[in-house]
Amino acid sequence: MMRDETKCIRSGYKPKNGEPGVMPIVQSTTYVFDTAAEIGELFNFPNAHMYSRFSNPTVDCVEKKIADLEGGVGAMCTSSGQMASLMSVLNLCQAGDSIISASAIYGGTVNLFAVTLKKLGIECIFVDQDADEEEIDKKFKDNTRLVFGETLANPALSVFDIEKFSKIAHKHGVPLIIDNTFATPILCKPFEFGADIVVHSTTKYMDGHALQGGGVIVDSGNFNWNNGKFPELVEPDESYHGFVYTEKFGRAAYIGKARMQLMRDFGAYPSANSGFLLNIGLETLAVRMERYCKNAMTVARFLTTHPAVQTVRYPGLPGDRYHALAEKYLPRGCSGVISLDVKGGRETAEKFMDALKMASREVHVADIRTCVLHPASMTHRQLTDEQLVAAGINAGMVRLSVGLENVDDIIEDLAQALDAAAK
Ligand SMILES: *Cc1c(COP(=O)(O)O)cnc(C)c1O
Repeated sequence: MMRDETKCIRSGYKPKNGEPGVMPIVQSTTYVFDTAAEIGELFNFPNAHMYSRFSNPTVDCVEKKIADLEGGVGAMCTSSGQMASLMSVLNLCQAGDSIISASAIYGGTVNLFAVTLKKLGIECIFVDQDADEEEIDKKFKDNTRLVFGETLANPALSVFDIEKFSKIAHKHGVPLIIDNTFATPILCKPFEFGADIVVHSTTKYMDGHALQGGGVIVDSGNFNWNNGKFPELVEPDESYHGFVYTEKFGRAAYIGKARMQLMRDFGAYPSANSGFLLNIGLETLAVRMERYCKNAMTVARFLTTHPAVQTVRYPGLPGDRYHALAEKYLPRGCSGVISLDVKGGRETAEKFMDALKMASREVHVADIRTCVLHPASMTHRQLTDEQLVAAGINAGMVRLSVGLENVDDIIEDLAQALDAAAK
């Protein structure tokens, strides 16, 4: 069994004698075969690449690496994190179904679930993730197909109790889907706590260098789809000449269906080039995460001592509301993301951001560069005040993504900007 640092470098691509040491970019939409019968056979069982809309050898290596890191049976990359979240839901739901989601999740996902899924006839019922089991139980309906939560919520930085929710979801016969973007499999492996499906925006720490967007869905292979609630997985798919996903793919039925049905129809698949770049990011993921956590912890401690700062949210801090959950789910660290409320609300928050000399003001997070963003006026601008509160966001909140520069330089920059904002 390889450990994470080794998997980041060695998993996925295994060159044979005389082959390139680095996973090559296979820049081809198509693959040629000796006989027509062989191609026909591929439609019966897809065990080779056929067409670039749903698979590619370069991206395939990345998928294997991520599946290995998460401890899953298979993975499928998508063109964005949003597409991964959407497909993870559409793979189980159709018009007339409902899903349950924690309300403290990424703003883009709130919009996707509350507005766009609704247009498709799928209802999303939001729950307070800190509610007790009884209250959460009441949200389930006969048509509920899944439960969704975020390990470390963007930007509320609440820690999701994966074990609690997996027990509740399983009691109701549905899977738990976890957005593990901020934690990455280096800091948390949701399958070990009973989650069934994991999604990521690979745009963030996995890519790590702000080079290109992407997403991924990972299948644990642990959920029993044959419980009467998921006929689409266990009965013949007429859109695929009677293919039965659980029969053909066994434990990897969910991810097999996502590719054969949804990716075939939507085609939101990354290019070989994107796969190549993502792999470079993944190779250093374990090393980078360790440093992000270390830098962020130092910065978080500094922020708690600064008079211009009202509150600091970082679950790694002993006084944080989610510290106990962080100790359980994120023992190696809580990522590089810190949320802080600057005294004086929205206006001072903007003054602080504008006064930064090194940290970048950008619509991004988990960059190698330290960067800041104002959720209330940027990423979460579309949310109503109520949704903002539910997502754990104040008007004066700044989301700080601590990068990999020298931590003393980061702190110097933050200190001078906080001083300037307080004037
Ligand atoms: C950014 C983000 C997404 C969306 O990913 P994109 O790659 O931007 O589409 C989803 N979930 C979380 C937690 C994110 O931070």
